[in-house]
Amino acid sequence: MTPPGPAQGGEGHLTQVSLSALEYYAYCPRQCGLILLEDSFTDDAATVRGTLLHQRVDTPGNRGRRAVRTVHALPVWHDGHGLTGICDTVELHADGTVLPVEHKSGRYHPAGPADVQVAAQAMCLEYMFKTPVAEAAIYSGTGRRRHTVLVDAALRTRVLETTNAVRGLLGADHTLPPPVADSRCRRCSMATGCMPKLLAGTRRYQQALNSLYVIDTAQDDE
Ligand code: SF4
Repeated sequence: MTPPGPAQGGEGHLTQVSLSALEYYAYCPRQCGLILLEDSFTDDAATVRGTLLHQRVDTPGNRGRRAVRTVHALPVWHDGHGLTGICDTVELHADGTVLPVEHKSGRYHPAGPADVQVAAQAMCLEYMFKTPVAEAAIYSGTGRRRHTVLVDAALRTRVLETTNAVRGLLGADHTLPPPVADSRCRRCSMATGCMPKLLAGTRRYQQALNSLYVIDTAQDDE
């Protein structure tokens, strides 16, 4: 499968997409839209736990052991894909291995949104360090252990598809994606403002969405 190429923004420039936005979109496109388009991030107990966990790893700096140097809060980017963000932790091993480690306060969900985020980190590090990064890791605060993520061709394609989807969200008509209204909403801190059950699949919502940018010329003629 050929990975999708990066979409160009206005005047040939690539709209930059943050690594955290990839995780939001992979979880729920509407959540990503609410955060990026309406700046309406809402905290709950889980997100506050995550913030507290990240305070420990988001302080820039590095620690060295004999075989591994650990760098925290490392800014990363990929000019070709228009990606930018900050890695929680990057391990630089003596044998040349570069390993991004993303910290999550909750349980690890295999093939979940965090895999997309950490794989994008790996792709940025490859670009910056000019070395292959075949694996990444997610540390689960709940499980208190690391999970290895294989950064294979399928996951790379998923990263690029998600990047293009986020770019489309930012660049098109700024319309919020419809609510998913499934089990994800139970774990989503945005549920109160999003109102997924109220809006999902209702005819009035779809009509309002479809007519959002339609100019009523009949009224103008009156
Ligand atoms: S409440 Fe559901 S539909 Fe709304 S942003 Fe969260 S996951 Fe998406």
